[in-house]
Amino acid sequence: MSVETNAEIQPQVGTQSMKPAVKKRVFSGIQPTGNIHLGNYLGAIRNWVETQDQYDNIFCIVDLHAITLPIDPKELHANVRKLAALYLACGLDLKSCKLFVQSQVHQHAELDWILNCFTPMGWLNRMTQFKTKAGSEMDTVGAGLYCYPVLMACDILLYQTHYVPVGDDQRQHVELTRDLAQRFNNIYNKSIFTLPEAQIRDAGARIMSLEDPTKKMSKSDPNPSAYITLLDDPKMIKKKIARATTDSERVVAFDPARPGITNLLSIYQILTGQSQQEIEADFEGKGYGDFKAALTDRLVETLSPIQQRYNEIINDMAALENLLKQGADDVRPIAERTVQKVKKAVGLG
Ligand code: ATP
Ligand code: MG
Repeated sequence: MSVETNAEIQPQVGTQSMKPAVKKRVFSGIQPTGNIHLGNYLGAIRNWVETQDQYDNIFCIVDLHAITLPIDPKELHANVRKLAALYLACGLDLKSCKLFVQSQVHQHAELDWILNCFTPMGWLNRMTQFKTKAGSEMDTVGAGLYCYPVLMACDILLYQTHYVPVGDDQRQHVELTRDLAQRFNNIYNKSIFTLPEAQIRDAGARIMSLEDPTKKMSKSDPNPSAYITLLDDPKMIKKKIARATTDSERVVAFDPARPGITNLLSIYQILTGQSQQEIEADFEGKGYGDFKAALTDRLVETLSPIQQRYNEIINDMAALENLLKQGADDVRPIAERTVQKVKKAVGLG
């Protein structure tokens, strides 16, 4: 890993010499493609919030990624603001994090072109998300969907990132980012890009669809019953959990052969912090109905305060626009430093 050059210098409290400690940089983002769901929260945002004090954090709303599939312009514009408000409502603190919109920092697109030229086609051919998302439209989807992992690599590498906290579905993309950084450093100069690592927790890394528990929960799922959004009201949460796919066994237990109930139990486990044994003991002799009612209560308890804060934040749009502009102004010089290093190495400009 290359030497840290850009993280803020923080005084180290409690040491006699007050030696400055350098915080490692964290970068992550979410696409403003639809309704932010429980998977995005448990797999990503919640982890960002929990560790924000330990790191020098940059969080992005990756709107350039959102146009890799067709999206209505008005919806995209509104989604960006909604997502920013949700980041803050979930607990991101601007004292510890920089928060910005990807398309407001043109260096993402600039580095993207350069890095595309250094990405072997064979590496992109191995990316499973493209195959899942393109489905039967392989020949008609835009090339941007195919090149999506390169843009994601640029997002991460522009900020000389050490850690990328994401869900399990992004593991392959972060590995590609690391490989691209290494390849570029080897060709030109070993210290151009910091080599990033994915930070993927065991709990919540892959929340599954409520309709088809063999598929991950996704914003782009055409069926809203497949996910719980962070803005679903208690009635909606109750309805979606009640109809969530389980099985005919009726024993409330973690069992890989029963992915539906296991997914719901995993969500319950994260929300309550209980062990698997404790949960199974609590529901011994009870049915899926009792368990689903308890899960609904925990979800409402978790999401209600987020929704309350969200409503306050989204109602002051001027303040929200301002803080996003400030975020972009803050990160742009960091991104520009990397672009300059890259252009110089390649011989551009
Ligand atoms: P889309 O369907 O538009 O790709 P998405 O739900 O996959 O939407 P992304 O914006 O691609 O969401 O991902 C945002 C973050 O949420 C990433 O860190 C990703 O790994 C994480 N994430 C997405 N879905 C899940 C899930 N089901 N479980 C855990 N983490 C998830
Ligand atoms: Mg996704």
